[in-house]
Amino acid sequence: MSRIAYVNGRFVPHRHARIHIEDRGNQFADAVYEVWGVKDGALMDFAGHISRLTRSLDELQIKPPMGAAALAAIISRMVTLNHIRNGLIYLQVSRGQARRDHGFPPANTRPGIMITAKPISAKKAEARAQKGISVITQDDIRWGRRDIKSTSLLPNVLAKQAAIEVGAGECWFIDREGKVTEGSSSNAWIVTADGVLITRPATNDILNGITRRTIFNLAKKAGLKIEERAFTPDEAYGAREAFVTSASAFATPVVEIDGNVISNGHPGTFSLQLRETYVATAKERALQPINRPSVWLVARGGERLVN
Ligand code: PLP
Repeated sequence: MSRIAYVNGRFVPHRHARIHIEDRGNQFADAVYEVWGVKDGALMDFAGHISRLTRSLDELQIKPPMGAAALAAIISRMVTLNHIRNGLIYLQVSRGQARRDHGFPPANTRPGIMITAKPISAKKAEARAQKGISVITQDDIRWGRRDIKSTSLLPNVLAKQAAIEVGAGECWFIDREGKVTEGSSSNAWIVTADGVLITRPATNDILNGITRRTIFNLAKKAGLKIEERAFTPDEAYGAREAFVTSASAFATPVVEIDGNVISNGHPGTFSLQLRETYVATAKERALQPINRPSVWLVARGGERLVN
């Protein structure tokens, strides 16, 4: 089955999908991106990712390539064209194509957009979560605006590779004060001995994960205690539980950090329960097509996109 990509206004076979060499995303990482998880055909946390995309574009003064409704229709079409039941949708918007110069290109430069889709094995992801992953830590050498979902990910790439090379699943970044910021592609959480969930506040120091926010709200609704504060690796080593959240990992338990076994070395009940609830309620926050093909809305709790 051939994969389909969307590039600058066209659905094209993945193997023929091309962007220009002077796309600013390519030369300067002058671009932002979003990733949606697809679960049983539904685009998870649809509205949350759209609103973060809008914010990232706004912060960098990149023009939105189209309105939210048109984008929703294209993303949804990508799911069906690629027959994705479980997988990921990747979307990138750059400042466009222009002769290389650091300053912004002329105001009439069209933003570049590309979207890809890839299936993932829900079974493998679930098995990984049921086993738990290990995590290493490294200094956070990234820029000061980690709240913007920019494609400038080289430190994240190097950190993830360092984790892979020692058989770990993620690398947590440590700031200058010796506190955990987040993972290379996920947010970091621990659960204290008294059952309090701890995660870093969403400032410029971390990406405000859409999954982080959803898990936060689900935990609150379940009556769990949550504290938004930074924590040290030492506190994490002694935690009752630890886990990571992201659009692709949902909530995935962490069972070892820097070689220190967390609790009894098995995924904790808070982490697994939150994962289960996140998946069970996914459809409520997903993009749902309704009667007319041009009309899309986000079910319960989401924003209406178009009429
Ligand atoms: N933090 C970083 C650095 C990430 O790259 C990601 C996801 O890619 C996240 C956190 C989690 O964000 P989300 O839950 O929106 O996928």
